[in-house]
Amino acid sequence: MTTPERPAKPAKPTTELTVTSTERLGPAMLRLRFAGDLAAFEGVDDTDRYVKLLFTPDGSPDLSTMADGERSSVRSYTVLELDVAAGTLAIDFALHGSGFAMRWARDVQPGATITVQGPGSGYSPDPTADWHLLVGDDAALPAVRQALAVLPPDAQGYAVLLVGSRAEELPLPAPAGVEVRWSHRDGGAGLADAVRELPWREGRVDVFVHGEAQAVMQEIRPYLRERGVDPRGASISGYWKRGLVDEEFRKWKRELAAAEAS
Ligand SMILES: Cc1cc2nc3c(=O)[nH]c(=O)nc-3n(C[C@H](O)[C@H](O)[C@H](O)COP(=O)(O)OP(=O)(O)OC[C@H]3O[C@@H](n4cnc5c(N)ncnc54)[C@H](O)[C@@H]3O)c2cc1C
Repeated sequence: MTTPERPAKPAKPTTELTVTSTERLGPAMLRLRFAGDLAAFEGVDDTDRYVKLLFTPDGSPDLSTMADGERSSVRSYTVLELDVAAGTLAIDFALHGSGFAMRWARDVQPGATITVQGPGSGYSPDPTADWHLLVGDDAALPAVRQALAVLPPDAQGYAVLLVGSRAEELPLPAPAGVEVRWSHRDGGAGLADAVRELPWREGRVDVFVHGEAQAVMQEIRPYLRERGVDPRGASISGYWKRGLVDEEFRKWKRELAAAEAS
């Protein structure tokens, strides 16, 4: 069967950002702050808004070295502390051991520049929901933090986070009715087990679940379906996949989506 041709999506705008500071938040998390022209971010209020950092295929931020027609390599990161008028934002990088985006963030100094594309976004907490379920690992911790920050003071629910060890937990302000639960990889915990252990609540749940793709798509998503959550009305997807670099992960994601659609 042939796939009907769809019009190409217009490319999102690109802008150059300059690193203004680096701050170690914990053993495995680094915050970089940036300045630049952020006009394209005006009115983009979703809590999971993100940009794609552009690198050459071998991981350099210097795109001028690329040959004509060569495609850049992209890495997605959640945008924090956005101030469009001041032209500033921040990104928290999980220091996960390998990968050129992680290495660039770890080694970069103030004054360095990088081209970013975006923003993209897709989720804000639903204020009409009876309760909220926010789930993520290190990569999704910034997006979970932003969702918690906009919940009303009387919001109910859970935030479930997976990090390497207790020492990697970070401050995570939440309304009194939203219980924050941390799990630790060094204790053998997985994100899916932590979600299954939650006492399920009555009423309509607003769901945001992101992190390692196997756990999110093949363990947590089926469990949430069993609980009556329609994934089409929820924000559930992998942010990365163990053992795959981002290009391979996105191919896997496309193939999974195609298989599920057929
Ligand atoms: C919308 C969106 C928002 C995101 N926001 C953030 C964010 O704010 N902060 C953040 O840190 N990440 C975020 N991520 C995840 C980030 O894009 C990926 O982790 C990305 O793969 C990192 O690129 P890299 O070049 O460092 O590693 P890659 O070259 O892609 O991968 C190298 C190796 O590292 C592994 N790996 C990749 N990511 C991780 C990880 N987090 N933990 C353990 N191993 C990993 C891969 O499986 C691979 O084996 C987001 C992803 C999406 C889709």
